[in-house]
Amino acid sequence: MMKIENLPSIFTKALPVLEQLENAGFEAYFVGGAVRDLLLKRHIHDIDIATSAYPEEVKKLFPKTIDTGIKHGTVTVLYAGGSYEITTFRTESGYQDYRRPDHVTFVQNLSEDLKRRDFTINALAMNTQGEIIDLFDGINDLQKRLIKAVGDPEQRFHEDALRMMRAVRFMSQLKFSLADETKRAVLVNHKLLRKISVERIRDEFVKMGVGPDSRAAFNVFLETKLSEDVPAFAGESDSLKVYPQLKFSPSLETSLWSVIIIILKIPNEQIGQFMHEWKNSNAMTTDVEQIVALFDLLSDRSPSDYELFTAGKSTLLNAIDVAHILGQPIDSKALVDRYVALPIKATSELAIDGRFLIERGVKPGPQLGQILTTIKEEVVNGQLENSKEAITAFLKRKQILNVK
Ligand code: ATP
Ligand code: MG
Repeated sequence: MMKIENLPSIFTKALPVLEQLENAGFEAYFVGGAVRDLLLKRHIHDIDIATSAYPEEVKKLFPKTIDTGIKHGTVTVLYAGGSYEITTFRTESGYQDYRRPDHVTFVQNLSEDLKRRDFTINALAMNTQGEIIDLFDGINDLQKRLIKAVGDPEQRFHEDALRMMRAVRFMSQLKFSLADETKRAVLVNHKLLRKISVERIRDEFVKMGVGPDSRAAFNVFLETKLSEDVPAFAGESDSLKVYPQLKFSPSLETSLWSVIIIILKIPNEQIGQFMHEWKNSNAMTTDVEQIVALFDLLSDRSPSDYELFTAGKSTLLNAIDVAHILGQPIDSKALVDRYVALPIKATSELAIDGRFLIERGVKPGPQLGQILTTIKEEVVNGQLENSKEAITAFLKRKQILNVK
């Protein structure tokens, strides 16, 4: 049995939680992603614990808990500044609709719990002694860098079709391959993905897309025809084949959506619809629309200072990132230098505002907005100094303010 001698502090900090459960007569283990990432020496972002104790029993043992998913057996325990999801050993049964178990059944042993997990590398557990419980040869698959279903892959995808998206997501995040039989099972069952909610598919798709090996994972996403059963991608596999050939992988979600929209040649007025089909937020949609618009502009010509100003820093950096990913040659250093040199970066930095103009006799209304925009353009272009005096003089010269 493999034994980890020096546990990282994120685990040792959680040890008293496991020990408390054990002292009360229950079993408790670290499980899932944290154990996998420990063996892979990856960053560990959260710790999941599996136990034989029922949720009510867990709640009795710890003063601070949150009912995260009592019905599914999950209680979050807050302990010494950390928060831990503690889930009762369970099996899932009666997957009638390819989505979620009809009911979960609590069980008394770890092995039943590990059996319901998706992939062998996610079905590892570790006890308080640092000993790894590996019932499905997950350590071997970690070494071979394989994503492999626990048990019969077809059956597992029938139980929960989201697992097919999780397979390509982990490929990208971990830079792993998909085991042959598991891959075949995805190819045979890809249509089951239609039973899964768009939000859940999107979350896995985005994790795949911003993972370090998303181009290889995307290839399998296309090969297995999963791409035919997600929003807006059906019939687009020829265009999408560009994705695995990209110069770089996106690491931002905004870049991912922008790159895909550009690859699919979606016109600007249809970006909203596309993002909506994927159930993206309005904020994400607006960001992506602006990034794609600026990318189009940058691909065509050099932007004016005022266009750089309106785009703003984050859209500019994101559009440059997108150009980089697509291998579109643009002089990003020159663009950033020009942006940095802009006299103002936001309207709020203007030396005057609407009230300043009203106090000097300009009537509130559309014309006021026009005047402010003109001043802003002049200041951004470096034509007009950003001071009350210079702006007042400018407005008098233009006979916008009456000469006193
Ligand atoms: P990360 O949190 O780093 O994305 P993870 O492996 O912790 O990766 P989670 O989605 O947090 O992934 O799930 C935690 C664990 O629960 C997994 O490691 C796996 O054992 C199990 N699991 C999660 N989703 C499923 C599923 N759809 N089918 C079977 N087991 C699952
Ligand atoms: Mg997790």
